[in-house]
Amino acid sequence: MSEGAAKKEEKPRKFQAIRGTRDLLPPETALWNRVEQTAHEVFATFGFGEIRPPIFEPTELFARSVGSRTDVIGKEMYTFNAATELFTFEKLSGDSPSPEGAENLGEFVFRIRDAFEKGDIPPIESNKRAVDSLLSKFSELAKVSQQLKPGVWQGSVPFLDAYIQLDAECRAIASNIKLGESMSLRPEATASVCRAFIEHGMQQLPQPVKLYYMGPMFRRERPQKGRYRQFYQIGAEVLGGSDAPAIDAEVIEMVMTFFDRLELQGVQLELNSIGCRECRPKYVELLRAELLKVKDKLGPDSQRRIETNPLRVLDSKLESEQGIIATLPRIADHLCENCASHYAAVKHQLEMRGVIYRENWRLVRGLDYYMRTTFEITAQGLGSQNAVCGGGRYDGLVELLGGPPTKGIGFAIGEDRLILSLQESGKAPAQQGRDVYIAWMGDRAHATAIRAAKDLRKAGFSVELPPVEQKFGKALGQADKLGAKYALILGDNEVSEGLWTLKTLADGSQAKFTEPDLLEHLRRQKALSS
Ligand code: ATP
Ligand code: MG
Repeated sequence: MSEGAAKKEEKPRKFQAIRGTRDLLPPETALWNRVEQTAHEVFATFGFGEIRPPIFEPTELFARSVGSRTDVIGKEMYTFNAATELFTFEKLSGDSPSPEGAENLGEFVFRIRDAFEKGDIPPIESNKRAVDSLLSKFSELAKVSQQLKPGVWQGSVPFLDAYIQLDAECRAIASNIKLGESMSLRPEATASVCRAFIEHGMQQLPQPVKLYYMGPMFRRERPQKGRYRQFYQIGAEVLGGSDAPAIDAEVIEMVMTFFDRLELQGVQLELNSIGCRECRPKYVELLRAELLKVKDKLGPDSQRRIETNPLRVLDSKLESEQGIIATLPRIADHLCENCASHYAAVKHQLEMRGVIYRENWRLVRGLDYYMRTTFEITAQGLGSQNAVCGGGRYDGLVELLGGPPTKGIGFAIGEDRLILSLQESGKAPAQQGRDVYIAWMGDRAHATAIRAAKDLRKAGFSVELPPVEQKFGKALGQADKLGAKYALILGDNEVSEGLWTLKTLADGSQAKFTEPDLLEHLRRQKALSS
């Protein structure tokens, strides 16, 4: 190998964020913070409290709520089981006894014990017994293997049978250990909020319970603009109490207020009712029958969905299918009496609140648990991934998860897309530079600078204090690059006179201030500019 090639090989690997994930960096994170802060404020004015559920939950929770036939559960979840990774047992002891085999088996046994102690293997009585007997069987086997000297493994030694016997017993015991259940990174948070509602007996609280959340979600989708594998949602749920249409309308009013506060552009609210357990199945059957008549004219995705989920055909963006879809029966004409009057009342309630909506009979939701009120909000600047919020009513969900019959409605905002839209329309705030850059020279000035930085920061100013001495010229250049508004110049003269020089970088003007005057001056300027 040439020296060059050797060098190349030594170079440590450069890591990159996994496809579909990304770093959120300054200055963009300032916008994220502003969005989240606004959500905290607006949602609090509607009486919502924040919930922070865990990021992983039992796979079963999502499978049951989101629906196992949906893409999210079928293909998109990140699922893992902490215990199964321990069980690479098959290859462990090998086919014939060997010193390595015994060693590997020992490692395996202690891994099991550690996992049990950590709680990765459920701490139930039968597992405790299994782990104990695994340990004692292994110590027997270890004794036997010590009796065997290297070189005699192949022969018919009396200990060989004992070894084989103990090895088989260890395997049998290990295979009886009950593993913990499968877990998944959350693809959405509604199921978690419902789980928490049940777990904490929130039906005892004054109803309805109003909760909101924000945080990362995980779906193994094809990454593209506005679609990531780790993305962020801001969502809210109203659980319990009645299903009064005013609740639906107020939840929608809250999202719209939030978007309005952020000055999100091109906001469009689309509304539909997808019926209930009474009327929806009948409509779905009707739809399926109609779709079967035109099956040949549909693309492969829609053809498949005739069987799996006919409602999703309405979602199709395929140009060639649009004409056919326009002729299909509409759910609004097939709602039961209760759903029809609920839908009418929701619309009326929205009008009373001055919320502008557009009815879209083709609006369905990808997740199984929705019923009645369904809505989606789009914004500008997002291309084909233009939905920034999806939501709807899900009255049966808490019960489906083992809780009491509970009404529910909620929404989830795609925060990544919300941010993208704000940036595209120039609503993102400019980068916040430092307020003050302290240019100091000399030991005495350094001490003064440290004190000045402390006082200014305490007063809420953003201060950059260079860690090593710099010539004033260089310091001022640095202050410029950081977008500082002011440079505070501290040299020997300033320190001995007690008069500090403040340079306004925008116009280059300079003035001298005593320490208290300086603080007062900066405060006044800040008040003027905000
Ligand atoms: P889409 O039709 O865009 O796939 P969805 O119906 O899967 O959306 P929901 O599960 O209702 O979306 O989630 C609500 C919001 O979360 C969406 O409107 C969107 O803004 C956002 N969202 C969903 N999936 C992603 C993703 N992979 N990356 C970024 N944002 C997403
Ligand atoms: Mg999706």
